[in-house]
Amino acid sequence: MNIPDSLPDGVPATIPDPIPHHIGGEPAASADGATFDVLAPATNEVYTRAAAGGKADVDAAVAAARRAFADGPWPRMRDRERARVLGRIADAVESVDEELAAMESFDTGLPITQAKGQARRAAENFRFFADLVVARSDDAYKVPGLQLNYVNRKPVGVAGLITPWNTPFMLESWKLAPALAAGCTVVLKPAEFTPLSASLWARVFAAAGLPDGVFNLVNGIGEVAGEALVTHPGVDLVSFTGETGTGRRIFANAADGLKGLSMELGGKSPALVFADADLDAALDSTLFGVFSLNGERCTASSRILVERSVYDAFVSRYAERAAAVKVGPPDDPATEVGALVHPEHFRRVMDYVDSGRSEAELVAGGGRPEHLPDGNYLSPTVFAGVPPTARIFQEEIFGPVVAITPFDTEDEAVGLANDVPYGLAGYVWTNDLRRAHRVADRIEAGMVWINSHNVRDLRSPFGGVKASGLGQEGGHRSLDFYTEQQAVHVALGEVPTARFGAGGYDDRDPFFSGARSLR
Ligand code: NAD
Repeated sequence: MNIPDSLPDGVPATIPDPIPHHIGGEPAASADGATFDVLAPATNEVYTRAAAGGKADVDAAVAAARRAFADGPWPRMRDRERARVLGRIADAVESVDEELAAMESFDTGLPITQAKGQARRAAENFRFFADLVVARSDDAYKVPGLQLNYVNRKPVGVAGLITPWNTPFMLESWKLAPALAAGCTVVLKPAEFTPLSASLWARVFAAAGLPDGVFNLVNGIGEVAGEALVTHPGVDLVSFTGETGTGRRIFANAADGLKGLSMELGGKSPALVFADADLDAALDSTLFGVFSLNGERCTASSRILVERSVYDAFVSRYAERAAAVKVGPPDDPATEVGALVHPEHFRRVMDYVDSGRSEAELVAGGGRPEHLPDGNYLSPTVFAGVPPTARIFQEEIFGPVVAITPFDTEDEAVGLANDVPYGLAGYVWTNDLRRAHRVADRIEAGMVWINSHNVRDLRSPFGGVKASGLGQEGGHRSLDFYTEQQAVHVALGEVPTARFGAGGYDDRDPFFSGARSLR
């Protein structure tokens, strides 16, 4: 192991070795003592290790979560009380803002400026769900004189939360906040490439007064710790964000237990730029859309479809701007693109760049910047004239690589947009109001932005269609996922009932009269 001599500003000098699990309110080593190496993407040095969870550790974490669910106060608290704790969690996240951002940037390779935004968003997720859980209402129906029906909402139970390495802390908050707001207890399995920032949760939750055992964390390799969590009979539902291939495997593994599943998967999202658009705004937005967060962004506008009449000008301006993007160390506030998360991922991205060279025209980037000989650095890479059959058009790259393709007609643009297995996001750039809505409607994507990059109201649905996901999260949909909606039907008067064994059928019984509804 090789802990660097000097850590970037803000990264605590005392990084634990190994980073422990957190089970039943206590840090814990793996039952068998196993660990795995954790690398800093700017240098690829192993800077610490993390406990590698196995079945025994998952068993212990699920048992702690089950105890907290069965006997603890959390699921029984009034929504307002839970909301107060969530509010304190948001405050606690904000109080570690600088430290969190520094850790996140160091561990993931994200530019420090963009890592700072993640802390604020994580805090906002807790505030949002604190408000929502108090403000939510449920249905109640009355059939006068006959029946009252109401929805009795209950937390589902123990939630398994499995998260990826791009913006890890923020994506963890995205699942933790609604799961906890709903009254579930949880076991989080963070991504193995980036376990550092998740170690802050235990401190944040303790400071906020979350009862022990409500939050549990098991570090580890996906195929081991992740699979043990998905297949554990004590886990009632699984919320997963990650690759589509992993999602398929989890889907299969969860089938036996008939677990509730929410899947936020990969994407290959198109930005459609029509000639009548505000092209300056489209240029800024599509550059930001694919190069922010190092291009490791599920909703990246990684395919740009441009109307032929403005195509050449757009491509040359795009390539010029991409070549000017500042690639640098993650801790430098001037850096716009940092280091990709891990050498394994870097090799995968470089493999796509190599295949792109034979599939299309490389107009910017394509390799490591000269001034950065070590670490996982790739210059923003732009391919033009990309045919829809190309791998770089079809497959998610998850790095600073973009494919630009011309189109002649609206129909062709829509056809190209939909000609991939994914359906996460879409972006439409046009000043023609009717076309904007028409095209948005025809794009096969869970989310569409018109004349905008990816900003959203937290109340709106988030999720993908096709190979990009299953189910929608966001706002009350997230609370729906983590809660059961039990329907309770109360008779308000006499209910005519067939008297089996004592005289047979009663014509007035709604069951036999065919009127299954009382109304
Ligand atoms: P990944 O699928 O490799 O890993 C995600 C998580 O799943 C990790 O914690 C991993 O350990 C775990 N895992 C791996 N195999 C498992 C298994 N067999 N059983 C249970 N858990 C397992 O994804 P990644 O490389 O960490 O993240 C990048 C991917 O995430 C991209 O495809 C990206 O588009 C996607 N993503 C999607 C969204 C969204 O909201 N749709 C958001 C962010 C990232």
